Amino acid sequence: MKTHLGNYSWQEVQELIKDDPVVVLPVGAFEQHGKHLPVKVDEFLVGSVAEESVIKSHKKNINAVLTPVVWTGYSPHHLDFPGTITIQEETLTNLIIEIVESLVHNKLERILILNGHGGNANILKNVVQVLRYKKNIYTAFASYWDFALKEIAEWRKSETGGIMHACEMETSLMLNRDEQTVQMNKAKDHYLNRSKYLAADLLSGGPISVAASFKELSENGSIGAPTLATKERGEDLFNKITDSVSDFLVEFSKWPKPLTGEKNE
Ligand SMILES: [Zn+2]
Repeated sequence: MKTHLGNYSWQEVQELIKDDPVVVLPVGAFEQHGKHLPVKVDEFLVGSVAEESVIKSHKKNINAVLTPVVWTGYSPHHLDFPGTITIQEETLTNLIIEIVESLVHNKLERILILNGHGGNANILKNVVQVLRYKKNIYTAFASYWDFALKEIAEWRKSETGGIMHACEMETSLMLNRDEQTVQMNKAKDHYLNRSKYLAADLLSGGPISVAASFKELSENGSIGAPTLATKERGEDLFNKITDSVSDFLVEFSKWPKPLTGEKNE
């Protein structure tokens, strides 16, 4: 089975639809990731996770494909660093809705929106609601790290604050997936010294949200502990994440419609 929807002809897609395949729609971002990582990190990593998860799901005899990665997302908080390309929240919302509507128009109806950028998460969760209540279309949404929060907690070497942006996690994953784009000699740890009411980390959050530009938080653009990253630990974490995503794809492929997660037994 082919992995990428882009490699099918329309006639082959017509055949594929008969099996009601899972469609993974990866959504990334294009933004600065410190001095040591390239600006492609979010779109590249979510594409890698989606591709590997689909390949693993094929080995479990599941029909799944992925669409091309939506490579830009909501990144106004990074815009003051060159190389960042952002779109407005309405643009992202409409873009995802229109992609989903196109898939559903031709009966590709089992869609996981897989996110690779923290700044997109609230917008994409809202998209799932809008699709359901304005269009009667059921989709599922998750950020890729959400599939492995427990594993990440056990995997990490950094203290709280070490996994935030261009951090221990993203740097390890990039060392594993595309080592030549990582400049470890420029990696610098930077822990935020914030109020306990604000998020300290991917894994520990306070109740308060604010909107701060990264220029206000970090001189070099990264937050966390990238110096703890290694290629081997990146491979380990990549496998844990993609195992977990592909396990979900197996279950998702069997969810009865409408796709509520409720078992009609
Ligand atoms: Zn990132």
